[in-house]
Amino acid sequence: MRAQMTAPRKVYFVSLGCPKNQVDTEIMLGLVRERGDRLVDDPEEADTLVVNTCGFIESAKEESIETVLELAQIKAASGGDKKLVMAGCLSQRYPSELANELPEVDHFLGSADMLGLQKVLQGEAKRMGVSELSRRAYLYDATAPRQTYGVGHSNYVKIAEGCDRPCGFCIIPKLRGPQRSRPIFDIVSEVHALVEQGTKEVCLVAQDLTTYGTDFKERGLAPNNLEDLLDALNEIEGLKWIRLHYAYPTATTQGLLERIAGHERVASYLDVPLQHLDTGVLKAMRRGYTEKVVRDLVDRIHDLPSRVWLRTTMLVGHPGEDEAAYHRLRDFISEGRIDHLGVFPWSKEDGTASAMRPSRVPFEVAEARAAELMEMQAQLRLRRHQGMLGEVLEVMIDGVSEESEFLLEGRHEGQAPDIDGKCYVCDGTAERGDIVQARVINVGEHDLVVSMDLERAPDEEALEAAEDAAL
Ligand code: SF4
Repeated sequence: MRAQMTAPRKVYFVSLGCPKNQVDTEIMLGLVRERGDRLVDDPEEADTLVVNTCGFIESAKEESIETVLELAQIKAASGGDKKLVMAGCLSQRYPSELANELPEVDHFLGSADMLGLQKVLQGEAKRMGVSELSRRAYLYDATAPRQTYGVGHSNYVKIAEGCDRPCGFCIIPKLRGPQRSRPIFDIVSEVHALVEQGTKEVCLVAQDLTTYGTDFKERGLAPNNLEDLLDALNEIEGLKWIRLHYAYPTATTQGLLERIAGHERVASYLDVPLQHLDTGVLKAMRRGYTEKVVRDLVDRIHDLPSRVWLRTTMLVGHPGEDEAAYHRLRDFISEGRIDHLGVFPWSKEDGTASAMRPSRVPFEVAEARAAELMEMQAQLRLRRHQGMLGEVLEVMIDGVSEESEFLLEGRHEGQAPDIDGKCYVCDGTAERGDIVQARVINVGEHDLVVSMDLERAPDEEALEAAEDAAL
């Protein structure tokens, strides 16, 4: 489809929020490229400024507004012939309020309106382009014009959009609409195309990965689920790691865990947000499970025949989280069975059920609890890393380190991009996307230092520190 040609536009993007929003931005980047327009990385040079916003929690909303206002100043300083576009979740959440409060913004596009940018660039779009969300709302497919950015050999693939779950603290179902999954053949076709372009790792994302396919029946599609998808993706030659993000505890089946532990190309890694441990708090959060379910799941992961790295997220300070409940969570974290942890203080989000709940926890208390758990986790992870000294790992090279041009950086199978720490490769040569064998010679709370000289012994001071810590 070649649009009615207008003078090539120069388009500048800012992408905020989560990896799912990044994929949406990449669809818009691909659309700009397909039109023959230019992507520029200087807003002064651009005639169209696009912010793909996040509207999940207070801090994200503030960042989105600040970014839009910064670009509005650049637009004003240029005499105002630039177009300012506000896309994504914040536009989806507050279309009319934003339209009234931000006269500087020329166009609003919602979280499923990426293709609406076409009309904006053609100069034919109305100001308000935010559409209602439904099961039929737009979800990209393998034919969508997508221009990935980032390291090139590792890319996110969104397998589904939206969410049907009732979690009390979460506004996402209102921002992203109901669950809608992409058929397996479509995802396989996209991943094949990415692998042909050099992708070695795909990080599968959705709001809830484990309800993949539950909407197929009512759409008259073949009944498939996440396990079927992994079986299909595991056949793709050239793919090294298929990484799973955002599983739901009660939908994390034994079959799924066995594929994570057993399938050659599925990374031995699982990101499953548990949110809390305490049964009372989980009930108040409307998560639909109990402490026993959380402990059973973690046991099942640890009982797998091979090591599976566990990432999770906890939410502290949710209404109903008294001292005792928090201490139960803290004791659980102190058991050291979680490899990678993110802890967030609850944020009162209007339009969510939890926002109406009594027995609040002061935000400073929630922040202090989050900081305490993250500090505890840092010490536990340092201990775990010290136990890896001398271990030989497979490391995927991401490129030259930002820390030093003499260092390469990469990740082992247990480290997802951007969130789980890095492996700094202190010797040897390798290209982006290469998989190298490397020995752990030094460690920190967050990162590892590895050597491609497999005969090299770990650094003395690292061994001493590990011995002292073990005492
Ligand atoms: S599963 Fe995740 S996205 Fe869905 S409502 Fe719950 S927290 Fe929100």
